[in-house]
Amino acid sequence: MAKKHTAQCACGAVKFEFNTDPTFIAVCHCLDCKKASGGEAATFFGVPEDDFTLISGEPKVLHYTAQSGKGLDRNFCPNCGARVFTSNLESFPEMVFVTIGSLDNPEGIKPVLEMFTKRRLDWAKPLDLPRFENMPS
Ligand SMILES: [Zn+2]
Ligand SMILES: [Zn+2]
Repeated sequence: MAKKHTAQCACGAVKFEFNTDPTFIAVCHCLDCKKASGGEAATFFGVPEDDFTLISGEPKVLHYTAQSGKGLDRNFCPNCGARVFTSNLESFPEMVFVTIGSLDNPEGIKPVLEMFTKRRLDWAKPLDLPRFENMPS
């Protein structure tokens, strides 16, 4: 039986699933998120590694050192190039970071905070949520 939350890349070659309901869902305007996603911000959350199951595909893993100086692995679909999840995070051990766009059913999963607002572009409206200039401490 599939887990509660299912997700996939754009072409469907890479699929993964997990049961944990996302709680710490952040909209992040930092430069890494802008560059990695190609958008103004990225909306993501953490899933415990032991609940995260890759069910199909072989993501291509690229190691990257973030602006914070901490390492992480970006996992891409080798067919369509979509970034599907981020693993091996030095700053969040035993967590896999998932972006909201990869979910099959993102309805009801809403951000709870906004961070790195110092880098929010001026056309992007502030959300009615707790906001942090940088990383929430
Ligand atoms: Zn794909
Ligand atoms: Zn970010």
